[in-house]
Amino acid sequence: MGLVGVAREGEQNLADICDVCGKPLDEENVSRCLMCGRRFHMAWSTDAPVGNCGRAFFDERSSALGFICNPCVDENREIGGLLIDMG
Ligand SMILES: [Zn+2]
Ligand SMILES: [Zn+2]
Repeated sequence: MGLVGVAREGEQNLADICDVCGKPLDEENVSRCLMCGRRFHMAWSTDAPVGNCGRAFFDERSSALGFICNPCVDENREIGGLLIDMG
């Protein structure tokens, strides 16, 4: 019994928070949304301990792979047909 973790030190990297789910980001499994510029969880390996908070899609204009966060997917329905299923 007792108070634990009330005042944690070393929490200076407040920017390293997923803007979609609000949980901490690690350095590897993160992408940047092309629409809003926010960073979010994108698992780069199947055993990564994070979920995907965004999607990959094919940008026809630049002929390149891009990433978009889930809120932007919801707001930009026209991009639905370009989404890539990453499994
Ligand atoms: Zn997230
Ligand atoms: Zn976004």
